[in-house]
Amino acid sequence: MMTCQQVTELVTSYLERRLPLRDRLRFQMHVGMCRHCRRYLRQMRLTIRTLGRLPPEPIPIEVRDELIVRFRRWKGLSP
Ligand SMILES: [Zn+2]
Repeated sequence: MMTCQQVTELVTSYLERRLPLRDRLRFQMHVGMCRHCRRYLRQMRLTIRTLGRLPPEPIPIEVRDELIVRFRRWKGLSP
């Protein structure tokens, strides 16, 4: 079973369809069962759509968190 940590690490690869089938299935299985990661994945999708493209380099985790925080504020989802 994949952990939430692994999901956050693999989300960019997943969205770029760079994951091998086995990892892709494990990723989807986790996201299917984990509400937290489902929300995270949705936000990453929206963030990427907002930026218009995927970044060429994997986003450092702090930058990614910052983007998500900013995005939530922008959408009025968090105080
Ligand atoms: Zn999770």
